[in-house]
Amino acid sequence: MTGFVVAIDGPAGSGKSSVSRAVAARLGFGYLDTGAGYRAFAIHALNNPEVPAEHLAESFGYSISMDPGAQSVFLNGQDVTELIRTDAIAKAVGAIARNLIIRKFQNSDASARILCCDLPGIVVEGRDITTVVAPNAAVRILLTASEEVRMKRRGLEQTESAENLAQRDKSDSKVVDFMTPSPGVELVDTTNLDFEGSVQKVLEVIEAKKHG
Ligand code: C5P
Repeated sequence: MTGFVVAIDGPAGSGKSSVSRAVAARLGFGYLDTGAGYRAFAIHALNNPEVPAEHLAESFGYSISMDPGAQSVFLNGQDVTELIRTDAIAKAVGAIARNLIIRKFQNSDASARILCCDLPGIVVEGRDITTVVAPNAAVRILLTASEEVRMKRRGLEQTESAENLAQRDKSDSKVVDFMTPSPGVELVDTTNLDFEGSVQKVLEVIEAKKHG
């Protein structure tokens, strides 16, 4: 059963994941990080270099928790929660995300997970959630921030080099336009907002939609 769906897209470093997680926790909703699926698929492809990536969907045994408080990601029985965050995987994921067969597979996987969520609602974040995966979501938000601020945030997190982040944005934007909101998608610019301010802004947009 699907409850209230909140779809959030945005580039790397926009605060998308941490803000989405906090919003889901405060509302008692589930949380689905769709980027984790692409990252886990990149590991699967690296583990099977002899198989063309688009043939790997059938051997992709994937699971992800929907708990906004603690993420756990498994690939064929192996806990890859930390491995998906490494620089090597951030570098490998672009080729996976550009493959349209893999995108189709990831989209239906995400849609099935949204349908299975038995909580009152779910926050789903990625690059194409507002446009492709859940275009009919009750709330659709594009979370952005200036490039300078996004680089700074990633630098503080020390999860990814500025060079790789810029490269990933460039590669990603060839597949999906996640910088311009589609009609009906609310733009939330967090350039001048801190974390709490960003969470509050998203909660306000959700409240307005609930009552509007
Ligand atoms: O959100 P995150 O940065 O973890 O996503 C990792 C990568 O997965 C992105 O750089 C992008 O290439 C891909 N992705 C995508 N569509 C999504 C989510 C992620 O193409 N909905």
